[in-house]
Order: sequence, then structure tokens, then C-alpha cells
Amino acid sequence: MQELFGQKTKKQIKAIGLISGGLDSILAAKVIKDLGIKVIGVHFNMPWGCGNKIKASASAKQIGIPLKTFQLDEEFLELVRNPQYGVGSVMNPCVDCKVYFLKKAAQYMKEVGADFIFTGEVLGQRPMSQLHNSLNLIENESGLKGYLLRPLCAQLLKPTIPEERGWIDRTKLLSINGRGRRSQLDLAKHYHITEYTPAGGGCLLTEPHFAPRLKDAFKYGYRDIKEITSLKWGRQFRINKDFKAFLGRDEEENKLLKKYAHETDYILQLHRKNGPTLILKGPKPSLKILSLCGGLIQGFSKLKSLEPQKIEYCQANLKKDKKYLTPSILSEQQIQALAISPV
Ligand code: SF4
Repeated sequence: MQELFGQKTKKQIKAIGLISGGLDSILAAKVIKDLGIKVIGVHFNMPWGCGNKIKASASAKQIGIPLKTFQLDEEFLELVRNPQYGVGSVMNPCVDCKVYFLKKAAQYMKEVGADFIFTGEVLGQRPMSQLHNSLNLIENESGLKGYLLRPLCAQLLKPTIPEERGWIDRTKLLSINGRGRRSQLDLAKHYHITEYTPAGGGCLLTEPHFAPRLKDAFKYGYRDIKEITSLKWGRQFRINKDFKAFLGRDEEENKLLKKYAHETDYILQLHRKNGPTLILKGPKPSLKILSLCGGLIQGFSKLKSLEPQKIEYCQANLKKDKKYLTPSILSEQQIQALAISPV
């Protein structure tokens, strides 16, 4: 790293700040910016993580820093599938996740000639990734030893190279510790920062209901990040090893599931009546499988206790080529047996 930084005047010092859309990261950016450092924000957009792209962008704008967004892809999914440092309460590999983000940010730091990286991490705030040991591990594993600053709790940690070289005045950094939010909320008020997501939550990897969906996708396979993104919507059913169905729970989910359908998926819905849309994923479904999906649609519609209703279906890329079927009527037990997570 040494040759990368050389001797610069404070005016030339640039830092990359990880901006999630939450309060802590934008406070850290504001602290560093106010010390006269040129800050470039970096946001990692993930299908169901703890960040929020819209808030990240709004908060960066609010404090006047540019923001570069990286879209996470299949490489990130592999990390979730096989984390090196284990998972938190559910399927959240927070340490691996942070190392991954920081490695990407370090590459970007080189590209733009920045001098160090900072994050909004707070010592003791999260049990898995924000204790002394994990903070050190994350710093070492990301290859940023000495060049990773945590401005909100820096006074509780060993001085970093930016502090030692005098780029940053350590006495202006903070010593926030623990899970409380009072100090951060007071700072937000002080800096007039209003654009941020509420603390805690957002990452579906920490949600018990989401884990079976992801495990199912890892077990039976998925085509791409688009399919993984749609795991967050609707009710989901494993018909057999080749077929899986997504059923919208409201109009918004119906639209999103259709939007994220692949061309070869099948779209099924009640003919000329309101109800859930079902997206069937799998190759060349038989009429028996399609009828079973029709049964799911009727079973979750307002018409569930009526006689079998007419269902229309088509392949997603052949919307004008509609066909019709009569659904199989399914018992509550049959529905529950197909459900990937409780419905
Ligand atoms: S909560 Fe943990 S696993 Fe989820 S996105 Fe954040 S760092 Fe990654």
C-alpha cells in the first residue's frame, strides 16, 4: 500500500466512504468531510441487504459528496452460500460481507487515487461484526491494514495511518460505543441530516422467513441475480425439483413478479377476475403441474370456496398466446406441503 499514498498535502487527500443509506455511514462521511478531506461515497446495491440505494443517494446529496454505486452480482451470492467466517443469527454472513465490500472499495480507491477508506461502523454495535476482534479481522482480511478508519469510534481504536500521518486530526474523531443510538441521533440533528433509513433491519438474510427461500434456491439452483432478487416477493412453492412457483400477495407483488419473470417462465392468473398472479419457473410444465398452480391461485383468491375457476396462462415471452385450464382444487395440507416458507 505504501507506494500508493506517498506524501501529499492535506488538500489532496481523498477518502472513500462506504455509504449504506443508514445514519452511521453518512455521519462518518460528514465528520471526514468537515476535516477538509475530499470524500467519495461508495454504495453497494444488493438484492436484499441492509443498504438502501435511494437513501444512500439522498444522504450523499444532502452532505454534498459524490456517490458511486456498485451492483452486487452472482459473485456476492457465492459468498452468501459459502461464507468463510460463519453467519449471524440467521443466514447473514456479516464479516464476509464487509470484507467483500471493503476489497471492492479498495480496488476503487486505487482507481481514483484515494488515500484511505472509512466506514460508519461503531464498536460494540453489532455482535457479529462490530466487536474489537471482528473489526480487526475485517481490516486485515480486506488488505486495508492501517488504511481503514472508523470515524465514529476511532478514539477507542488503534490510530490508523491517516491519523498518524496527520491527514486526520484524531482529536476531532469520535468515541461512540455500543448499541444505543442517542449520540448518532444528536449528531444527525446537529448536522441537519434527515435522509437515512431507520437503524436495524433491512437485511433479509437476518429474517427467519427468508432463509428457507434462499436455501431452496441454493439447493435447486437459480438462473441469475434477477431470480434471487424476486425471492423477496410473494408466497413461494416448491412443486418438485424442476418447478417452483411464485404467487403475488397483492397488486404490487403481481407486477414485480411479472417484471422479474424470465422469458421462458409461465404466467398464470384468474381469467377476467382479480386475484394473485403466479409465475411458474421450470422447463416445459405439464398440464398437471399447470393445473396445480391454478389451484394455488384459486386457493389464495377470494373465490377459493367457489367451484373451479377458469385460469389463463401463457409463457412470459408469448403473452398473446394465451391458453386456459381448470385448476386442481388443493386442500390446506397440500398447499402447506408445497410451501417453501410458511404462507
Ligand atoms: S446485515 Fe450483514 S449480511 Fe446483511 S447486508 Fe449487512 S453486512 Fe451483509
